[in-house]
Amino acid sequence: MAQQNDILIRNVRLASMQDNGKPYGLIENASVAISGSKIVGIFGENDTLPEGYDVIDGQGQCLLPGFIDCHTHLVYGGDRATEFEQRLLGQSYADIAKQGGGIRSTVSATRAASTQELLQSALSRARRLAAEGVTTIEVKSGYGLDFDTEIRMLQVAKQLEQHLDVDIMTTYLGAHAVPVEYAQRADDYIQYVCETVMPEIARLGLADAVDVFCESIGFSLEQCTKVFNAAALHGLRVKAHVEQLSDQKGAKLAAQFNALSVDHIEYMAAEDVACLKQSGTVAVMLPGAFYFLNESQLPPIAALRQHGVPMAVATDLNPGSSPLSSILTAMNMACVLFKLTPEEAIRGTTIHAARALGLAECKGKIAVGFDADLCLWNINHPVELVYGINQHRPLKKWYKGRLSTL
Ligand SMILES: [Zn+2]
Repeated sequence: MAQQNDILIRNVRLASMQDNGKPYGLIENASVAISGSKIVGIFGENDTLPEGYDVIDGQGQCLLPGFIDCHTHLVYGGDRATEFEQRLLGQSYADIAKQGGGIRSTVSATRAASTQELLQSALSRARRLAAEGVTTIEVKSGYGLDFDTEIRMLQVAKQLEQHLDVDIMTTYLGAHAVPVEYAQRADDYIQYVCETVMPEIARLGLADAVDVFCESIGFSLEQCTKVFNAAALHGLRVKAHVEQLSDQKGAKLAAQFNALSVDHIEYMAAEDVACLKQSGTVAVMLPGAFYFLNESQLPPIAALRQHGVPMAVATDLNPGSSPLSSILTAMNMACVLFKLTPEEAIRGTTIHAARALGLAECKGKIAVGFDADLCLWNINHPVELVYGINQHRPLKKWYKGRLSTL
């Protein structure tokens, strides 16, 4: 029996992302029943439709799950536009770093920003994602690196939910860089991350996961192992930035800790990919950073396909290497630069992105029992969303069953 305000969206081409043997999990002439925040029924053209619902005519348009941006750093102070210009005027990264540029400048600006300033700038970025049909965003800390600012960043991220129709998943990325006060003392900093900051973040329930930057210019396998062990101690799942610039075997380490995802992985060796399948870890493609840094090493896509490792796609929205507030552009880039198929790109921002955040049982798919996060698009086929660059916005969006203002 339908409750008041329960709705039935009828006459849609449903790109359900279910594994029903059809590309995109397509169901033609479909109807979707929503009660409260959940999808409660899916009907084909020959099914009898339930009564008592407010009916919305989809007019044959495509209905997709709300997109999930499963990797962003969208809370930060300042920007790096000047640095971008300096580099194009011929300055080296080392020179810029010497002048206080690079990640250090973002850390200083983030520490100096008020909570209100951080919230306002994060809101403007998150709003752009939401306007493209994103209904879940992961946000990492990692530009504070000290106790107060890391906690403030995560609190600001959570506050976005009060201003926008999005779910926010937060990730503690203390092991992003060594802060200036720990210069030449990376091991001491890791101890601080594990023994001082992480326990408080866990106690306050401010993070859903813990992340590391495993790289020659980031943290070593040994240091990442300490962070992962501490995360396990606090009951937090792990994720990892790995193999972005070199093959450190960070993905293999993360898989040993049953990581939710390994992200970037351009330099991951094809022979190491099988371990991701065994651990159920998602491979997150971040073509925005690949593009912005003008990289050329491609991730091991063929091996990921061969082993059936789920691939997600995300913006990596951050001021230094991926100033990209567009999930649709990230999907287009994943196809053009990494040669994903359009279906892989869309699964990468729906069902596989949900898995990368530990949300595989409730988001990323149009199926009974899943959250009613849905977008109706004025297109004939889902591929159009990936093909066009800045050409599409949803006609209608539902967030947890409620019609959302766009
Ligand atoms: Zn990142």
